[in-house]
Amino acid sequence: LTVDQLLRRAVDQAPSAEAAVFVEQGLRWTWAELDAQVADAAAGLWRLGVRPGDRVGIWSPNRAEWLVTQFATARIGAILVTINPAYRLAELEYALNKVGVSVLVTAAAFKSSNYLGLLQNLGWGDSGGAPRLPALRRVVRLGDEPTRGMLNWAALCADGAQHRTVLAEVPALEAHQPINIQFTSGTTGAPKGATLTHHNIVNNALAVAGCMQLGPADRLCIPVPLYHCFGMVLAVLACVGSGAAMVFPGEAFEPRATLAAVQAERCTALHGVPTMFIAELDHPDFAQFDLSTLRTGIMAGAPCPIEVMRRVQSLMHMTEVTIAYGMTETSPVSFQSATDDPLDKRVTTVGRVLPHLEVKVVDIDGRIVPVGEKGELCTRGYSVMLGYWDDPERTADALREGWMHTGDLATIDAQGYCNIVGRVKDMVIRGGENIYPREVEEYLFRHPKVAAVQVFGVPDSRYGEELCAWIIVRPGQSCTEDEVRDWCREQIAHYKVPRYIRFVDDLPVTVTGKPQKFIMRELMMRELG
Ligand code: ATP
Ligand code: MG
Repeated sequence: LTVDQLLRRAVDQAPSAEAAVFVEQGLRWTWAELDAQVADAAAGLWRLGVRPGDRVGIWSPNRAEWLVTQFATARIGAILVTINPAYRLAELEYALNKVGVSVLVTAAAFKSSNYLGLLQNLGWGDSGGAPRLPALRRVVRLGDEPTRGMLNWAALCADGAQHRTVLAEVPALEAHQPINIQFTSGTTGAPKGATLTHHNIVNNALAVAGCMQLGPADRLCIPVPLYHCFGMVLAVLACVGSGAAMVFPGEAFEPRATLAAVQAERCTALHGVPTMFIAELDHPDFAQFDLSTLRTGIMAGAPCPIEVMRRVQSLMHMTEVTIAYGMTETSPVSFQSATDDPLDKRVTTVGRVLPHLEVKVVDIDGRIVPVGEKGELCTRGYSVMLGYWDDPERTADALREGWMHTGDLATIDAQGYCNIVGRVKDMVIRGGENIYPREVEEYLFRHPKVAAVQVFGVPDSRYGEELCAWIIVRPGQSCTEDEVRDWCREQIAHYKVPRYIRFVDDLPVTVTGKPQKFIMRELMMRELG
């Protein structure tokens, strides 16, 4: 199936059922209404000269127009390039030029950032076009006000509505052609643009929806960013593939707004990275919300602390919540727990491999390790990207004989349950001992005063590396370094007890909410000189 065929299937099955609710924008669409919006925007883009294979960028937080652009580009076979809403000048310029974006759909502003101003700083002028963005021909801006040199979203759609017949010119699309360039989160450094086909993402979305047993009666609350595979594939395409309704609480993640949307819209499912679930559970108003309609959802994207899984299952009523493991490069999911897995497996592992995918765990020389031992996880099958866009070097490094080398350390037990131990890059070697920060984080997280914790290594002249913990203390509590050390000493070997402990108010995170250890490490190194 192509992405467009997936949408048409949902529209044909239940045209007047609710498809999408945008709480902050006050919009509510049925599948037929969504389809009409998509047709208008698709015709408008076609009339701008967008053709199959052309790259269309979207730079916007979670808004209705994002969803429409996703399916409008898919309808005409254009490759949607999803740009992180947190990007600023340098990153935007890099991304647009790297993939040759010819039309950019952009929000006017987001949070403290004036997108239109940033584009003008890149030289986008009143007559359209910018020397620093040679491939970019058109900018379509969201919102009502006109901006010189730019087209308006409303005008684009109005034009499309009058000329819908142009869509008859669109050639038949092929499922093995690229449809998205999705950027990775940038957790470990500069984001990479993964080129994915219809076949990659449609099939992955259907598999993931199956694991959650998502159906037309479900309503999924989507606080995760659309620009990322979590939003665009695991939320949107999974709903479209199963006829479930999509509920968007707002432009950016906000714990209270998410809880309010679940209650008001009687959502049955909720997605999030662990930090989002933690923020929801810890919100002072948490107990006020009726979340009893919740049943399932996905927690993924970063290690899911066992305690958080337990609280999500009991306090948020998500008894069928699943953990998924994946990466942008593999569409994304390769492992997901199933609702009928034994309870302990559902909180301690990322489940078993999805059907039709191969996985292996290898040592540094590429040899498969014995069952249950640690090594780098590799995946192969329908979900693996074509490659990083215009980056043969990094593609060759990541993809070898069809195997995606994930950069993640994992174990797989005899029954096939997988445990993500951490990133290969994050493993700390202190005085010859391998330390997996994830393990130390799990212990620290059990401390009653600890709200969030990240553990990472910093270079050390004596031991090679030393362990460092950044801790956010629960509201209203105070905690000392000694308390933390004493707690560790009771639980874990002395060499795993962090040498440096810092109490912080915030952690540097990506827009997807993932803690960026490379930034913490840099800040600590500066502090330590
Ligand atoms: P970048 O590649 O730009 O540094 P990133 O790897 O975080 O960023 P994504 O593709 O968004 O970009 O995330 C994939 C990664 O997220 C995986 O490689 C893995 O490290 C981590 N991850 C995803 N799901 C889980 C999970 N359930 N448990 C542990 N880690 C996970
Ligand atoms: Mg990655």
